[in-house]
Amino acid sequence: MNTPAQPFLPFALPDIGEDEIAEVVDTLRGGWITTGRKVQRFELSFAEFLGDPSLHCIAVNSATAGLHLSLEALGIGPGDEVITTTHTFTATAEVVRYLGADVRLVDINPQTLNIDPKAVEMAITPRTKAIMPVHYAGLAADMKALHAIAHRHDLQLVEDAAHALPTSLNGRLVGTLPSASTVFSFYANKTITTGEGGMIVTADANLARRARMMQQHGMDRNAFERYSATMPSWYYEIIAPGYKYNLTDIAASLGLHQLRRAHAMAEQRAAIASRYEEAFADLPLLRPPKALPGDSHAWHLYVIRLTDDAPIGRDSFIKALFQKGIGCSVHYIPLHQHPYWRDRYALSAAQFPNSQDAFERMVSLPIFTRMADADVERVIQAVRQICQA
Ligand SMILES: *Cc1c(COP(=O)(O)O)cnc(C)c1O
Repeated sequence: MNTPAQPFLPFALPDIGEDEIAEVVDTLRGGWITTGRKVQRFELSFAEFLGDPSLHCIAVNSATAGLHLSLEALGIGPGDEVITTTHTFTATAEVVRYLGADVRLVDINPQTLNIDPKAVEMAITPRTKAIMPVHYAGLAADMKALHAIAHRHDLQLVEDAAHALPTSLNGRLVGTLPSASTVFSFYANKTITTGEGGMIVTADANLARRARMMQQHGMDRNAFERYSATMPSWYYEIIAPGYKYNLTDIAASLGLHQLRRAHAMAEQRAAIASRYEEAFADLPLLRPPKALPGDSHAWHLYVIRLTDDAPIGRDSFIKALFQKGIGCSVHYIPLHQHPYWRDRYALSAAQFPNSQDAFERMVSLPIFTRMADADVERVIQAVRQICQA
């Protein structure tokens, strides 16, 4: 009776087209498979996508690497503090610890689920160096307030834009706001994917130069520049103990075509979100916050929160959905709940009431471009049945 009659509908699936596949094959046949021309093209295309060719775009092998390189380039180190949201994936915060600096986790706004600027301001100490907002689910954080705070206290902003391609606010795409650095993710389930990958975007030439150098072992020239110059050169210098964070041409081959389809795929996700929005209006749940008029939401995630009058709790809801053959997830188990973060900073749930309450009620439903109309309908019917049981 519990065996699903239909095939399992996963929580997410990548949308890889024939153009992506052909480009990868072209790269494989071409003889240069690591960082080369396709990565260069991907970086230039990314700046064009953001509408500002003067931006420095640095392709990396993950957003985690991009966040790490950004903070490193800003000189974050031991003794410094970086403020971020507790309601995120551990990658946002772990990079601060890589550098020996400390993380100050703060609570979220209960409506938007984004970092609360008032909580940020209260967490500032003389050691604070940077703020890392996350555009949760694809909805922009309150960047106006955060930029004002950063300006007032002379702090750097590094945006974790892993969910935010494409997200806009006040007519500008995330990536073009006046932050020190913005980092996108191309992980398998993100809005565009290269399997694994990420992009650092910055207007700061010095930050870009440092990140590029540290991405390649701290080397002053990369392999592609050395071996494909008209005058081959074996000579390079190591300037710092860098990292190995470069994206491959194989991955960039996917990214080039995913990026071309980014707006079309965003429209498909937005259409699913609006079907959910309408279908769930009468149910005992909070639907996700929408972007303000004129702004856009990337709809990486569609997160509902069960209210007190729902017939079952979140954990039972997820089990029931699974029994109906539908995958879902929870974004996120707040960082203050994880043993490492909890113990390192002696954190308790009571310090983060908004994040804790949201976590206990939340479920992320499938929202991906390969969902057929019938799949969306199936999710709608399943959620309605569970909520009306
Ligand atoms: C996915 C994700 C990351 C990490 O991205 P990777 O490319 O996998 O390193 C960081 N922050 C948030 C909010 C994410 O969702």
